[in-house]
Amino acid sequence: MRDAYRREINYLRVSVTDRCNLRCVYCMPPEGVEFLPHDEILRVEEIEAIIRAAASVGIRKIRLTGGEPLVRKGIKDLVRRISNIPGIDDITMTTNGILLPFHAATLKKAGLKRVNISLDTLKNERYREITRGGKLASVWKGIQAALDAGLHPVKINTVITRGVNDNEVEDLARLSLKMPLHIRFIEIMPIGDGNAWAGGLVPASEIMEKINRGIGRLDPVDAIEGDGPARYYRIAGAEGTVGFITAMSDHFCETCNRLRLTSSGGLRPCLYDSREIDLKTPLRRGAGEKELVDLIMDAIDMKPDRHHMHEGWTDRKRVMSQIGG
Ligand code: SAM
Ligand code: SF4
Repeated sequence: MRDAYRREINYLRVSVTDRCNLRCVYCMPPEGVEFLPHDEILRVEEIEAIIRAAASVGIRKIRLTGGEPLVRKGIKDLVRRISNIPGIDDITMTTNGILLPFHAATLKKAGLKRVNISLDTLKNERYREITRGGKLASVWKGIQAALDAGLHPVKINTVITRGVNDNEVEDLARLSLKMPLHIRFIEIMPIGDGNAWAGGLVPASEIMEKINRGIGRLDPVDAIEGDGPARYYRIAGAEGTVGFITAMSDHFCETCNRLRLTSSGGLRPCLYDSREIDLKTPLRRGAGEKELVDLIMDAIDMKPDRHHMHEGWTDRKRVMSQIGG
């Protein structure tokens, strides 16, 4: 399926829960957010029905996210069901990694191909502060579990915030030297509580410059498996790579290939736009695949040409964990 701007839409990000076992400062407000009642969250079979309909109009890749997808009951069953849907050839997950030691091997068996794990610092105390209580050692166990289970390639999502962890850019990039890890620096976005960090944006160009100067030249490489928006580079001799996701300083909307499904069943044409098409209500009154397909096509038609975050066009009502990051 192509949208009004001739972009092929083949990727659906599915938020399976708005709950999380961490409270990252740029993602959730200090008081936390009010979680949706269980009944408001899509059931596993409902998510499966939506993905089946989406696959019939060309969705090929699914990323499970949240909130924290590993706190969702039935996550392994969901992965197994999705892996049996004809047309879906890539199932991935974005996770904070804390629960991976308990799930990595069974998820791999169920059909999960790979994971992105979020990690913004290599310092115990700072990790505790950024995540409001998380333990860095647990994430390292999660990364090791993912590597051991063969969930390759393992990508690391790193949000750099000025004055918080910008002095760790080089150390984080160095992780790619000796381990098969792909470190992706993500520019902080003014979504939800990201607003509180508006002064914290460190443009990717500045991060690249730091790495070039401090460690060695970054040579461009082809995209690492998965066709997301990151641009990848390798430091000479490194096992892994370093990538940059420049949603703020150099948006990549012209190649956007995705839709997002919130945990409460809203289909979003764009992360930065608060418009949603409700799929839960029709599903619960018995909508069949044809009706779902029509609604999915409506969402594709609604995709804007680009985001306007710099002009204040962001979702201030919902934070990242509620939309699905
Ligand atoms: N809980 C999982 C995790 O942390 O990986 C999945 C959901 S989380 C919302 C997905 C990604 O969004 C994480 O890598 C997180 O760092 C990123 N994120 C959250 N709020 C953000 C913001 N305001 N700007 C940029 N990235 C953000
Ligand atoms: Fe939870 Fe992920 Fe948001 Fe952190 S970024 S609070 S781990 S959903």
